[in-house]
Amino acid sequence: MTDEWWLEDDGDVADPLTVDEFQELHLDLIVLHDSLEGLMRTPTEPDELDPSDGQLSPEEAMQQKKMAQAKRSRMRARLSKAVVALKLVVDEEYGECRRCGEDIGYPRLKPKPETLLCIACAEPTEKKR
Ligand SMILES: [Zn+2]
Repeated sequence: MTDEWWLEDDGDVADPLTVDEFQELHLDLIVLHDSLEGLMRTPTEPDELDPSDGQLSPEEAMQQKKMAQAKRSRMRARLSKAVVALKLVVDEEYGECRRCGEDIGYPRLKPKPETLLCIACAEPTEKKR
């Protein structure tokens, strides 16, 4: 198992996905896609409009609405990425950076299977947030 230890690289270069990892991430993507699509179909999120909380002031109601909208637009962005990623799975290009073609790597894809860019390409925009 470990006789390829010398190939391990602690640098920026990620390892390509194994068949098992690819299949696992594909399943994760399908689950993510379906749950996001389900969430997008519900008009309001019940847990964010808690009826037991009593009356909200107009400011609080506005704040809640804004938060719900922001959350929704993030979900929409994630969903469209997931759709692209699922197409890449079909084309067997999933796991490769859309910008430079390098492997994104399993550790980066596992928490966010919809990731389309490697860390080097994504970093400048991720830092801006
Ligand atoms: Zn890249």
